[in-house]
Amino acid sequence: MSAPRPSPVKSLFDKPFWEFAAAGELRLQRCADCATFRYPPAPCCPACVGERAEWVALSGRGRIASWTVFHRQYLPEMPAPYPVVSVETEEGPLLIGNLVGAGIQDVRIGAAVELVFEPVTFGSEPGNLPQWRLSDVGKAEA
Ligand SMILES: [Zn+2]
Repeated sequence: MSAPRPSPVKSLFDKPFWEFAAAGELRLQRCADCATFRYPPAPCCPACVGERAEWVALSGRGRIASWTVFHRQYLPEMPAPYPVVSVETEEGPLLIGNLVGAGIQDVRIGAAVELVFEPVTFGSEPGNLPQWRLSDVGKAEA
């Protein structure tokens, strides 16, 4: 099932991100000269000012670096409250997303998470929204 969502603004620099996501891949722009990730994507590297870039696939694994609870309902299909997490990916960049399949009581700083793509409809265009789910459910008490 495909949930309707507001369309992301696909600028010149982040259009590839959404195209890779639609194909089921999480890729981020990385400097081809010094390997610094550029997130959000940019025309040049913040570390070396190099203009060459490549789109690198991420593992889809990370840990919760921070989180919050949205108490306001923005979309009809997403009743509040629900957790929103900042995930430090294995490769380093922080990505913000929903934590699916878990309640507020399940969120812990440092908890291992893995990427899950939520099929969505951006306007009339199908796509995938990168989200996160706990990957160590049941292991915390062990
Ligand atoms: Zn660079």
